[in-house]
Amino acid sequence: RRFPVVIVGAGPAGLTIGNILRAASVDCLVLETETREFIERRPRAGVLEEWAVRGLEQRGLAESLLERAQLHTACEFRFGNERYRLDYHELTGHHHYVYPQPLLVTDLVREYADVRGGAIRFGVRDVQLHGLDSDRPTVSYTDPATGERHLVHCDFVAGCDGARGVTRTVLPQGARIARHDYGVGWLALLAEAPPSSDCVVFGIHPRGFAGHMARSPEVTRYYLQCPPGDDPENWSHDRVWAELQERLGAADRPPLTEGRLIEKRVLDMHNQVVEPMVFGRLFLAGDAAHLTAPIAAKGMNLALHDAFLLGDGLVAYLTKGDAAGLDGYSAACLGRVWDYQEFSQWLSEVYHGASSGDAYRAGTTLARLRRLFESPAAAAAFAEQYLGGSSAS
Ligand code: FAD
Repeated sequence: RRFPVVIVGAGPAGLTIGNILRAASVDCLVLETETREFIERRPRAGVLEEWAVRGLEQRGLAESLLERAQLHTACEFRFGNERYRLDYHELTGHHHYVYPQPLLVTDLVREYADVRGGAIRFGVRDVQLHGLDSDRPTVSYTDPATGERHLVHCDFVAGCDGARGVTRTVLPQGARIARHDYGVGWLALLAEAPPSSDCVVFGIHPRGFAGHMARSPEVTRYYLQCPPGDDPENWSHDRVWAELQERLGAADRPPLTEGRLIEKRVLDMHNQVVEPMVFGRLFLAGDAAHLTAPIAAKGMNLALHDAFLLGDGLVAYLTKGDAAGLDGYSAACLGRVWDYQEFSQWLSEVYHGASSGDAYRAGTTLARLRRLFESPAAAAAFAEQYLGGSSAS
């Protein structure tokens, strides 16, 4: 069988590209190792930047999101048992959308497969890529039901299979992988409990960072800084809630609303950037090209930015022979990628400096925080970066 484009991975990046291609009647095949049920439930991100939502809307992919997402207009830093609220909507007129990633993935799969008639295979095994440096690449995979091996001919492969996918393993020698290790772990938690604040809360505490992020009226994401490689089993229900209450405490707020923990895993916090993002006929998009720890809630937004550029570039080339979008793809993505990397590094120091055990880092962290609340220019610069800049895609 032959498809102009094979997309490896059905996350936000791969499914958005598939939808853009199908809207232009370009045939493509999405290959995904997990089942549809699994990807529609996998809890992860939830914060979308305004330009990303506009980009989805322009491509007919934001109907449910716009009906159901919550708007977030502020964030709050807590330290020294006090609260410091930063109302970025007031400063900029812009806001975030909160829409859980599984809902977005569910919308994108439905639109791609059930409405736009896109081809997709779930549960595939042993995906292999061949001939990427030729103009006739192929992709092979094993069908889970029959055990049969299939070979698909194509013009382009979109590598959207996340940081642990197969496309990472086939990068040529010239690929440069830049890596930054934050030297900390985060215990990522989902609690069956309503949010305890109307906004994202960052707890800066000598015992370590803690974060509170609303996901829905019933479920809240929390993070607790922990040693890298820590075992989630070291974190009992009681220990988790005691640490969250302590690190997110504020004198004028009641304790957090507690609930059953439905996800508990340790993330080793590191970022990676692959440069360039194109190797012959393989175009990387999303986490496959740049893994971004959830420090500043940027990963899903970057995945969508890549997807818009790659989807539009492939459509221009395959329908009009216009190669400009594909030629400029890597450089156009990497500008935003590095901008977000830098912001994540800055914000990580704010989160983790106070608990580093280093009095110098603790002192400069507090200076950064004070500046945010004493200097309107510093607050406006923070708001612009936190919202993802003023430029829309
Ligand atoms: P993915 O969503 O990882 O999709 C890749 C797909 O490829 C998966 O479905 C996978 O099953 C499939 N796959 C893997 N290997 C293969 C293979 N060999 N063949 C075929 N398919 C394969 N980002 C934000 O913007 N905001 C947040 O608040 C935020 N919070 C996060 C919290 C957590 C706990 C985590 C883990 C991540 C968070 N992120 C956040 C990051 C965000 O989830 C990712 O950046 C986003 O999912 C990237 O989308 P993607 O399509 O590139 O990759």
